[in-house]
Amino acid sequence: MNAPAMPSSDDMPDLAVETENLTKIYSPSYGPTVRALDNVSLQVPRGSVFGLLGPNGAGKSTLINILAGLTIKTSGSARIWDFDTEKQFRRARSAIGVVPQEVNLDAFFCPREVLELQAGLYGVPKNERRTMEILEAVGLADKADAYARSLSGGMKRRLLIAKALVHTPPVVVLDEPTAGVDVELRRQLWAYMRVLNEAGTTILLTTHYLEEAEEMCDTIAIIDHGKLIACEPTPELVGRLDQRTLTITVSSSLDAVPETLVPFSASLTAPNELTFCFSPSSMTVGEILAAIQSAGLTVADLATQEADLEDIFLRLTGIDEETHVVATDPPSSVVQDARSNPPL
Ligand code: ADP
Ligand code: MG
Repeated sequence: MNAPAMPSSDDMPDLAVETENLTKIYSPSYGPTVRALDNVSLQVPRGSVFGLLGPNGAGKSTLINILAGLTIKTSGSARIWDFDTEKQFRRARSAIGVVPQEVNLDAFFCPREVLELQAGLYGVPKNERRTMEILEAVGLADKADAYARSLSGGMKRRLLIAKALVHTPPVVVLDEPTAGVDVELRRQLWAYMRVLNEAGTTILLTTHYLEEAEEMCDTIAIIDHGKLIACEPTPELVGRLDQRTLTITVSSSLDAVPETLVPFSASLTAPNELTFCFSPSSMTVGEILAAIQSAGLTVADLATQEADLEDIFLRLTGIDEETHVVATDPPSSVVQDARSNPPL
């Protein structure tokens, strides 16, 4: 897959996106007001793959929509490529390509038309349009003239990405790009994002999967209840979350944790199930398995689980809010399966 060439410029900004005390309060006529963003100050360095991580309702889409010019902020400011999203609306908008969370394609247009229309909207002159090149890059060249309604869910997602690229924006924003996407499409999507990033495009993506942010992003910001609670390089953040849970099903029933396993902080979570909480940096799964074997037990099944969003919030904020709208997601080991849902 090829990436479009970035426009060369000697004076590119250091920050691709910057928000300062960005606040959004929704005041719907039908319900209580919601402070969806609360003084969020964020700096996305040019050239990074930046992850905005947070549970459902955290305010991720609100932030993206303000950047895209689709939602009006209440206060604070946002800049894209050093252009103010309100005072320099046009320039800010032409610096960003947004791939929305929802598929919103007109069923009666074919991919070629979708891209041509979008290019027209952004004022890309006919002789500078790269319609086929972009369709090629996202693997849709052979569908250029097929009705959008005849495309599979995965193809529609790729067309949305293509649409965001027509004006060669230096910043590409993807809102929950892999929600409801199958494993293969997810892999292709990330591969293409890497190609774009290597060609110089700054990528900003939102997700509520820690593993996804960890795999893709060099910097992760965490947002919860509209507040930014962390923003740091991925290895540092992950290093602070050095905890994993290993659940082992053994083939016999136990009355208590065997004595030799007590030093491994094991607990008996069912008559035939032992759960170990450990720090991968100081202990390996292999060591635990060896201890189980030498205790004379036979492993029937095992599952590991990394710290999930709930753990992260707890550890980063120290707050165990009853009201937290935290991860209703299944544990990470299960999330893997959930991701194999068929595309939309
Ligand atoms: P996320 O994308 O992280 O799931 P959103 O930005 O969509 O979060 O939503 C943040 C909060 O703002 C939620 O409480 C949501 O219900 C509320 N919200 C989002 N859009 C609107 C709207 N148009 N009117 C009222 N409330 C909204
Ligand atoms: Mg959202």
